[in-house]
Amino acid sequence: MKILVQKFGGTSVATRETRLKAVEHIEDALAKDFHVVVVVSAMGRRGDPYATDTLLNVVDASDPVAPRDLDILMSCGEAISAVVFASQLRSRGHQVTVLSGGQAGIRTNAQHGNARILEIRPKRILDALQEGHIVVVMGFQGESPEGDITTLGRGGSDTTATALGVALNAEYVDIFTDVEGIMTADPRIVEDARMIHRVTYTEICNLAYQGAKVIHPRAVEIAMQKNIPIRVRSTQSKDEGTLVTNAWTVLESSVLQDRYVTGVTQTANITQIQVEGEGVGRLNIFDLMAEHGISVDFISVSPDRIAYTVADADADRAVSLLREQGLEPRIRPDCAKVSVVGTYTGMPGIMARIVEALSSEGISILQSADSHNTIWCLVRRSEMEAAVRALHSKFGLGEANRD
Ligand code: ADP
Ligand code: MG
Repeated sequence: MKILVQKFGGTSVATRETRLKAVEHIEDALAKDFHVVVVVSAMGRRGDPYATDTLLNVVDASDPVAPRDLDILMSCGEAISAVVFASQLRSRGHQVTVLSGGQAGIRTNAQHGNARILEIRPKRILDALQEGHIVVVMGFQGESPEGDITTLGRGGSDTTATALGVALNAEYVDIFTDVEGIMTADPRIVEDARMIHRVTYTEICNLAYQGAKVIHPRAVEIAMQKNIPIRVRSTQSKDEGTLVTNAWTVLESSVLQDRYVTGVTQTANITQIQVEGEGVGRLNIFDLMAEHGISVDFISVSPDRIAYTVADADADRAVSLLREQGLEPRIRPDCAKVSVVGTYTGMPGIMARIVEALSSEGISILQSADSHNTIWCLVRRSEMEAAVRALHSKFGLGEANRD
């Protein structure tokens, strides 16, 4: 059985018109003899009536909600979306089976709000496909060992799609969204961002981990384990978008010998924390942060100074924890991280070009760090967009026909 998993994001299922485009993609696949499993996100974006964020606000902010209850509430967005989508498919004469995450066999741990998939038992999906049905699965959700509804955290529907792709040994997992594919930078910031037609799992994972939210990195990692190719594409167009696959296929396509920078990404809303004083480098304040579930980044430790960043939302908590230790941290809120992501960013001269690009725009680098494939710079939030554009242009990423 040739199986295709097609995931449609929030904007793709938002209205009857956009859903019609989605249906046409499904019909194209059926015409090519694929059995189709559809994964849907909640309809629309923040502010729309049945979007996840809207559902969260249904409960009065001052009332306590149990994490288990919150998952029940949040999973409704995909339930509504799946039923609406299935009805529109039926109106075109298709036979459809709608399944919740649990009914689709997605077993997770019990970590409500950010559950991990443990196992998928796809029997019910396979039976329905066998009978010629299109199966519509509610994205972003699974079922705990106790039989409770769980949700998979940010980008959860992407994860549902690739995990099903692996469990069903699909030919492809299609991630349909509101852009043509994966680009060298967020097209909302960089006007001449270029489409990346072919890319490796690793490159895309790096981009996604550094903030390119077009696909969730966990979803990419899952597909990579079994080499299931992903296509990131636009619901509005017939183009095949970006093909994400293993290194071999990408390199074979001749292309990218000189592509050492894949793209530029950004993450906003970061606070920089610095602690100075004789011997502070020996204090283990990172244990303290970890104990309180505060994730830290940009760590730089020297004997008399520690600097690191946290999400703006965690900053107050981090600061009070440090004060309780008798420390007087210096705080710089409203920062952003811009990253130059690639395959060979360890190459000499890259940092020099980054410094050149940013200083020519009058942007100061507040802190920087690097690994073998990424260089990160901390900048002021107000300068984030300018920094992304300057770096994108410095590395010539907008030029046409690079691949
Ligand atoms: P969906 O609801 O379909 O999952 P998302 O909002 O999660 O859609 O992802 C699509 C968005 O990702 C685009 O609208 C775009 O602004 C953003 N984006 C960020 N970085 C990139 C990138 N490098 N390439 C393409 N899109 C990007
Ligand atoms: Mg998304």
